[in-house]
Amino acid sequence: MSDYITTIGLEIHAELHTNSKMWCGCKNDPYEKKPNQNICEVCMAHPGTLPVANHKAIKKVITVGCAVNGTIADFTEFDRKNYFYPDIPKGYQISQYKLPIVVGGKVNGKDLTRIHLEEDTAKSSHDNEGYTLVDYNRAGVPLMELVTEPVIHSAEEAVAFARELQRILRYTGVSEANMEMGQMRIEANISVSKDPSKFGTKCEVKNINSFASVFGAINYEVARHIEACEKGEKIVQETRGWDEGKQATFSQRKKENAHDYRYFPDPDLPKLYLHKLFNIDEIKSSLPELPSARKERYSKYNLQSNYVDILIDDVNMGTYYDSILSSVGENNSVLVANYLLSDTLGLLAKDESLRLPSSSNFAKLIGMNIKGELSSRGTKDILAVIMKEDQDPRDYAEKNNLIQTNDTEALKKIVEEVISESPTQVADYKSGKEAMFMYFVGQCMKKSKGNGNPSLFQELLKEALK
Ligand code: ADP
Ligand code: MG
Ligand code: ZN
Repeated sequence: MSDYITTIGLEIHAELHTNSKMWCGCKNDPYEKKPNQNICEVCMAHPGTLPVANHKAIKKVITVGCAVNGTIADFTEFDRKNYFYPDIPKGYQISQYKLPIVVGGKVNGKDLTRIHLEEDTAKSSHDNEGYTLVDYNRAGVPLMELVTEPVIHSAEEAVAFARELQRILRYTGVSEANMEMGQMRIEANISVSKDPSKFGTKCEVKNINSFASVFGAINYEVARHIEACEKGEKIVQETRGWDEGKQATFSQRKKENAHDYRYFPDPDLPKLYLHKLFNIDEIKSSLPELPSARKERYSKYNLQSNYVDILIDDVNMGTYYDSILSSVGENNSVLVANYLLSDTLGLLAKDESLRLPSSSNFAKLIGMNIKGELSSRGTKDILAVIMKEDQDPRDYAEKNNLIQTNDTEALKKIVEEVISESPTQVADYKSGKEAMFMYFVGQCMKKSKGNGNPSLFQELLKEALK
C-alpha cells in the first residue's frame, strides 16, 4: 500500500468581503435570507446592460497575491466562460483564463499556480414538487479562485494548507472564509502512482465545505485509487462529489462529458494594467502581520501548542492577546495566556451572556495580579465580574475590599500575634510536626480577613518560626 505516492492539487474558491457585487452596485450580503433582494438589471443580465469591474475586489486579490509572495501580473483581462445553467443569468460566467491577476506564490511552503477573480453563481434549490427555485442574491458576488500545483501529498497536508489559506484571507480582511456559509469552498484533485516520475490519473472532488470533509474525501479517494490499481483496474478521470452521510465520494461527470467553455476575452470589460491602476508597493507594505509570522512570534512565548492554535486561528483573539501583552509585558506571556485561554474562554463556554472585557480592563486586572494586589482566586472572581459588566477592576476591587495586602510590616504584626496566641501549636511544629505550618498560614489569612498575601505570610512565618 505505502509504495504509492499520493498527489493532490487544490482549487479553492473564496467569496470576497466587499460592500457591493463584482459588476454592479448591488449589496454583497451573504447574510441576506430573503431571496432576490440584492439584484438589478446588471446581475440579472438584462439586455443592454454593461458590467463595471469592482476595483476593491481586484485590490483584494492583489492583497492575497502580495501576502503569498506571488507575482502580480502587469496586465490582466476578464474572459467569458460559456455554459448554460439557470444559476448563471448571462449564459456565461465572467472569469479569467489566460491572464490571471496573480501567478505563483506559496502557502505553507506549497507552490501556487495562480489566483484569479470571477463571479459567484446564483443559488438553486429544488423543492418537493419538482420545481427549482433560484435565488440571485449571490449572482455576481466577487469570487476568488486559487489553484495549487500538484505538490500536496496527503490529506493532512491538504487540510493544513486550507487552514492556513483561511487564516490569510481572514487576517487580510479579504474574505470571512467561513466554510459552513459557503464563503470558502474546496475542490481536491487526487491521483496515486507507484512511479515517482509519472502522475496517475486524477479525479476531482467538487464543492467540499468543511475541513473534516476535505480530509475524509481525500483519504477515501486515495484508498479507492490504490484498490483499483492493485486490482489492475484503470482509474477514469472524472468529477466526483462527497456524500457526507455515507462518508464516500460518488461519480458525477466523466471526462468525456466535460464542458467546452469556449473562453474568450469579455469585450464589455477593459484590459487592466494592474501596476498603473494600483500602488502594489503600498499594498505590500500595508499588509498586516500574517499568521505564519504571528505563529513564529508566539513560538518564543513558551505557550502550550493548543493555545498557539487558538490565538492563530482567531485573528481577533490574537490581537486581543497582543494588546494585553503590550501593556503587561511579554515576560508575562504564559500568565496572560492562562487567564485568557483557560479561565476566560472557560467562562464564555459556560455562560453565553458573558463578554470579553475591554482589553484595557483585562490588562489592568492582570497587572494587579502581577503586582500581588490580587490573589489568583481574587483575579478569577473579578474576571467573572468584568465579563458580566465591563468595568475598571481596580475600582471594583477597592469598593469590595478585595485588594491583597503586601504591606510587610502589617503582615509581620499578624504573624507575631498568631505565634503568641498559639504556644502549643508552635511547640508541636518545633518538635517536628511540619503539617502545623499550614495551620499558621490559615490563622494569618483569617486575621487579615483574607486580604493578606498568602505567599508573603508563608515567608514571614518561616522566618519567625526558625
Ligand atoms: P483541469 O484542466 O482538469 O482542471 P488542471 O491542469 O487545470 O486540470 O489542474 C487542476 C488542478 O489539478 C490543479 O490544482 C493541479 O495542481 C491539479 N492536478 C493536475 N494534475 C494532477 C494529478 N495528476 N494529480 C493530482 N492533482 C493534479
Ligand atoms: Mg479544474
Ligand atoms: Zn446587481
